[in-house]
Amino acid sequence: QDYLARIDALNPTLNAFITVDHAKTLAEAQAADAARAAGNAGLLTGAPIAHKDIFCAEGWKTSCGSKMLDNFISPYDSTVVEKTRAAGLVTLGRLNMDEFAMGSSNENSFYGAVKNPWDLQAVPGGSSGGSAAAVAAGLAPVATGTDTGGSIRQPAAFCGITGIKPTYGIVSRYGMIAYASSLDQGGPLAHTAEDCALLLNVMAGFDERDATSLQHDKEDYARDLNQPLAGLRVGLPREYFAEGLAADVAGAIDAAIGELKKLGAAVVEISLPNTKLAIPSYYVIAPAEASSNLSRFDGVRYGHRAAQYEGLNGMYEQTRAEGFGTEVKRRILTGSYVLSHGYYDAYYLQAQKIRRIIANDFQAAFAQCDVIAGPVAPNTAWNLGEKNADPVAMYLEDIYTLGVNLAGLPGMSVPVGFGNNGRPVGMQLIGNYFAEARMLNVAHQYQ
Ligand code: GLN
Repeated sequence: QDYLARIDALNPTLNAFITVDHAKTLAEAQAADAARAAGNAGLLTGAPIAHKDIFCAEGWKTSCGSKMLDNFISPYDSTVVEKTRAAGLVTLGRLNMDEFAMGSSNENSFYGAVKNPWDLQAVPGGSSGGSAAAVAAGLAPVATGTDTGGSIRQPAAFCGITGIKPTYGIVSRYGMIAYASSLDQGGPLAHTAEDCALLLNVMAGFDERDATSLQHDKEDYARDLNQPLAGLRVGLPREYFAEGLAADVAGAIDAAIGELKKLGAAVVEISLPNTKLAIPSYYVIAPAEASSNLSRFDGVRYGHRAAQYEGLNGMYEQTRAEGFGTEVKRRILTGSYVLSHGYYDAYYLQAQKIRRIIANDFQAAFAQCDVIAGPVAPNTAWNLGEKNADPVAMYLEDIYTLGVNLAGLPGMSVPVGFGNNGRPVGMQLIGNYFAEARMLNVAHQYQ
């Protein structure tokens, strides 16, 4: 009830939630109370959570930030929602996001931009901007998000909270509306690494309904939180601290790395030589997959359908013209282009080859270090509207996060201070496959 009251008071300003339903939330809370009274309470029974509006949840509108799904009430639960329900977590509502998770500022939502709680002139980051803003403003203690190219880490950084994108295949994508399936991964956002670990324990696990789910033994991601950092080798990629990184962001991260050294870590310089190629590679592969995934929104089965049209093709065209926003259309056009006959080899295939090279670079780096540390983004949060007119300027802000998704690695964002404008700075930790517990340990020791 405290959280619902806080949402009612602050959400009209922040716009972090798309849907709030007191009756539904209170019914879940009563069920949690009943479970507790019956002696069936688990660790997180009754703990409130809010979900990014990309995770299908039975009986809840699941819009994915799009007009296309503004009328879509999901008839089923995604695996992530099913797992959080089974753990007794209580749903506070559904969080705003960039339309179909395409964006870095949460300005591409059909429901309007989200404001950064630290500074109402600033973007909260994206695409999980509602998740990060809600946690930062105390509208929810934890939230779910998804990260295709940085969408958990970057909004966590911009809003001064913690978020982790797990190894690809750890968290089921079943019922998580697809953007770029080979890159998409769900994960938690919270104030601390410890809370992220507890929520990841609930979210993770093999799921036969997701063809890319990994048959990985169940882990306790909180098990190493209190381990000392003595002997830890932290790799600093030369290319992440080069031209383009704002001096105030670099300063905050240097100070955090100094703290890790005090805790016993050793620092080694490493190289990720193809960092710059992550942007062209990602912005070919992600739109290519999106153009295929979004073909299902055709006005036939569910979602928006144009009221007036001529013929079947006219229905498709009118529906998609009305239902999708500008950035989504741009991605569909880019994706269809790079997949088309005559361009496939020149763009899509090249991008896939670069993807492999980037993954190999990370493996070479992990021969020299246990975790990689660097910035999440080159700058702190920019002003609302500042980069809207220039999509490429927005894409360039993703330089440090995209490689992790291309390689399928786990990455996280840890708040480490503030820039000159008073806006939060996040440090990124990148681990090798299945290194989540170690990364959370490093973040927890720092925090
Ligand atoms: N900013 C990137 C994009 O627009 C990443 C988004 C994401 O991780 N979902 O595609």
